[in-house]
Amino acid sequence: MLRDRYGCGRVDAAHLNKQTRHEDVIMNPGDAPKPLSPDTEGGASYGTRRTPLRDLEVQSLRLNAVPTARSDDSRGNVSRADSAHWVLTEPRRVARDCCVFLDVDGTLLEIAELPDRVRVPDDLTALLARAAATFDGAIALVSGRRIATLDAMFAPLKLSAAGVHGLERRDDSGRIHFSSVGARLLDRARAVLNVLTVAHPGLEVEDKGVAVALHFRRRPELTELCRRLMDSLAEELGPSFHVVEGLMVFELKPSGVMKGTAIEAFHAEPPFAGRLPVVVGNDATDVEGFIYARKRGGVSIAVGTEIVGSCRLPNCVAMRRWLRQVAESAGG
Ligand SMILES: [Mg+2]
Repeated sequence: MLRDRYGCGRVDAAHLNKQTRHEDVIMNPGDAPKPLSPDTEGGASYGTRRTPLRDLEVQSLRLNAVPTARSDDSRGNVSRADSAHWVLTEPRRVARDCCVFLDVDGTLLEIAELPDRVRVPDDLTALLARAAATFDGAIALVSGRRIATLDAMFAPLKLSAAGVHGLERRDDSGRIHFSSVGARLLDRARAVLNVLTVAHPGLEVEDKGVAVALHFRRRPELTELCRRLMDSLAEELGPSFHVVEGLMVFELKPSGVMKGTAIEAFHAEPPFAGRLPVVVGNDATDVEGFIYARKRGGVSIAVGTEIVGSCRLPNCVAMRRWLRQVAESAGG
């Protein structure tokens, strides 16, 4: 029983934890779900060496500016604007018809000065468990963090999850798929970045194994220095790596697999398949997922003002409130 499995108020590790299988699946880049084709209207920048925030913002704005169908057409179809409206105002319908893909930092949780200082509200794990029961399991975390880190943050709950922007993915059965692009290829980048952080205290390197992130939130005046260095490290590594820009962070990671790729893979499988995708995020790394939602007739919810989605929630508090309304709408 899903409601037992996810707790719904009685958080029980034996029931909450997905049984992660040890037969981990190696997913080579060639095996990965094919990245989305560039959208004719918005145009994702797959295959580029870097995905600048400003370009993604423009693409996202274009998506939002696409003329929508009439909201009162003769077939009773709703327009995109109306779709966005009902996602925010009809929680019971969301619970019944949708699956949800949630970014974590800046979406579920307020951004912290450093990633390991993020605060998880006391009741959030129970809320996620309740939401998982409401959606019959069709909810996944889609984050730049590692899955192991997400598990630690929301212990004892283990939801379906994509980590490191899609390079790791744990499906509903607990099976883990991950890219085998060699973590050792990043050894030189790690060494260079460690020297950089010694020279410039306040910069922070986050080693994710298959990717490495450089956080400059505490040294914003070094943004351009960090950008140039990460670009040059990507150049050295060749086309199989690129730099993804997030909020006050540059991440050097293998090309070809991003959050949207992971969302597409989830959406092809139960319990997500057949439900309308709702993608919730806050920065440029989420835009690819927004584009996927749009292509599949779903909805994107932007949290804050950094990017543009089908609709917007002002902050993480409002996002958690929306999730609670949906989770509780089914009486779960
Ligand atoms: Mg985020």
